[in-house]
Amino acid sequence: MNTGSPRIETLRFENAELHARLEEAEETLAAIRRGDVDALVVGDDVYVLDSANAANNKLRKDVLAQIEDAVLAFDNDDHVMFMNAAAERQYRRSVSETLGHSKLELYAETWPDSGLEAASRQHLETTGAYRAHTIHRRNDGGAMHVESTVSRLRDADGRPSGTLAVIRDISERVAAEQTLRAATEALARRERQFSTLVENSPDILTRFDRDLRHRYVSPIIERYTGRSPSEFLGKSHAEVGMPEELCAMWGAALRKVFETGQVGRNRFSITSIADTESFFDARLVPEFGADGRVESVLSIASDVTEHELADAARRVAEEALREADRRKDEFLATLAHELRNPLAPIRNAIEIMHLTREPGVHANARSIIERQVRQMVHLVDDLLDVSRISQGKVDLRRQLVDVAALVEAAVETSRPLIDAAGHELTIRLPAPRTLMVDADVTRLTQIIANLLNNAAKYTPQGGRIEVGAERDDGFAVIGVQDSGLGIPPEMLPRVFDMFAQVDRSLERAQGGLGIGLALVKTLVELHGGSVQVQSAGRGQGSSFKVRLPLAAAAAPWPDPAAPLPLQTRVATDLQVLIVDDNVDSAESLASVLEALGYRTRTAHDGVVATRAAEAFRPAVALLDIGLPGLSGHDVARHIRAQPWGAEMLLVALSGWGQLDDRRRSKEAGFDHHFVKPVDIDALSDLLQQARKR
Ligand code: ADP
Repeated sequence: MNTGSPRIETLRFENAELHARLEEAEETLAAIRRGDVDALVVGDDVYVLDSANAANNKLRKDVLAQIEDAVLAFDNDDHVMFMNAAAERQYRRSVSETLGHSKLELYAETWPDSGLEAASRQHLETTGAYRAHTIHRRNDGGAMHVESTVSRLRDADGRPSGTLAVIRDISERVAAEQTLRAATEALARRERQFSTLVENSPDILTRFDRDLRHRYVSPIIERYTGRSPSEFLGKSHAEVGMPEELCAMWGAALRKVFETGQVGRNRFSITSIADTESFFDARLVPEFGADGRVESVLSIASDVTEHELADAARRVAEEALREADRRKDEFLATLAHELRNPLAPIRNAIEIMHLTREPGVHANARSIIERQVRQMVHLVDDLLDVSRISQGKVDLRRQLVDVAALVEAAVETSRPLIDAAGHELTIRLPAPRTLMVDADVTRLTQIIANLLNNAAKYTPQGGRIEVGAERDDGFAVIGVQDSGLGIPPEMLPRVFDMFAQVDRSLERAQGGLGIGLALVKTLVELHGGSVQVQSAGRGQGSSFKVRLPLAAAAAPWPDPAAPLPLQTRVATDLQVLIVDDNVDSAESLASVLEALGYRTRTAHDGVVATRAAEAFRPAVALLDIGLPGLSGHDVARHIRAQPWGAEMLLVALSGWGQLDDRRRSKEAGFDHHFVKPVDIDALSDLLQQARKR
């Protein structure tokens, strides 16, 4: 037994059997004995084996026993020559059952690849050591990742006598590494998904840190601001030049999310370089750090411009509807007032006629009644016009007309009103037949007269009115100007609206319904023209200008100022039956026709009417439609069914003049349809034609 070397002594103490084996393996361990092996390298730790004194020997022994790593010594044939306590634990085998046995009884070693195994062996030959990461599978099936540091052992003569291996179980570390790698990969995957999402998202995504600075800005920001995301990074809202108000709004919204940790909202708009405004609705999502505090806030801002615009449009439309509704209510109130207005003077006039027989007073009362009736008829005509125009049922009877003559005709119509108010009227017209337009004479006269009437109505007593026409670059421009009340600026865009009136108070209402200018505008536009209003404001007078395209070529035109034929008494024996349940209507019409020289009969209900027709056999029957018993339609159908009724001229007299009413009259067998109050001239024309037949 060798006692010369303290270095091996310690190892012998480990175990009696080991001692014996070591005796036999003297040669193999000579290297350790000689001091060729001075230290064990275990992982990153270095354990010094060599020492000159006993105290250190003791340390060495303790060290080997306490080392957490398995320490094994093998001979050239890979028989186990030494193992420490950690090796016993690691491979679940005691020293006594293992020493002298093959390494394979402890574990099978798997290399990650054969190249590495060969290289490691090569390294052992050339440098005397290698370190490698392999897998050890124990005989009981358990496996572990190990990191082995293997050193060459040599005998006294320097010949290889075996190997010394320090083997560390790194399974936990590998598992941790694997977990970490998986987590890192998952994170990277998530990041990739996030950036794909962000880059393709129509939303603007922005991340803010606790100092409310931009930490991330998605690329789409450029579309709205013309600036790249990098221009925002690291900067606060104020630093990127956002308006103060918006900065304050963002600041408040973000701070709240940082404080409460709850998802927040922020609505804002961006005005782009192209000067269009986009509206956003942003959700502010808190992102928590490891300490559980909100570390950053992610803002997801969706472009809601379309919604916003649609909303605004809806609000405008609703407001317009409410406004139209309000105007309609006002209109109905005015209408009632305007229709009732003429009734008082009419009643008074009738009363006067009862009270006195004096011809002068009678004549005066009659003219009051006439004026008021004309006013009522005018109102109702306007209403019918509105209804016809709004249904698109206006046909223009166009012909070549002289604007100057038209203006003169309109002045004639409005003259009584202008004179009554004591206005001074100036007329400026070009030479006759120099301004020719292709227009409906009646309608155009109505347009100009409407403007003149308004000028007269809305100008205080003794004002000035100017009417004129001139050529302007392919257009005839007709102007009506007054020195009157004027129109406040906010009303200017609306005076042409249906039912629009500047002053609604009934005392100020000047006998109108707020439809005159609407008619003017529609009729002018039907003629391919336009109408404009100007006024410097209240008390500053108003100026209306109608522009009509000039007629392309001069052609023969009728003289619009041709006098209308006067009604004269015609001697005739023509018989006329008048049927109306309103006795006054029937009788007064009969009186008029008698005065004109016709022979009349009246009836006041349908049944009597059919009998009267049979007995009287008139050439013409004027039938009201709404009759008690049989309707006007029924009476007409009955007459037409008789042998004596086929040739009779049947004329409907109705309060209703719509196309549909006219169609129904025609179907019942009527030849003509007149709207009440009937125009005596037109009726008289018709009767004369009937007489000639
Ligand atoms: P009406 O005269 O029946 O009220 P219009 O449609 O003709 O209806 O006119 C609409 C409103 O425009 C009038 O109520 C009046 O307030 C204003 N207006 C029209 N013409 C004039 C004018 N020449 N001067 C001042 N206001 C006017």
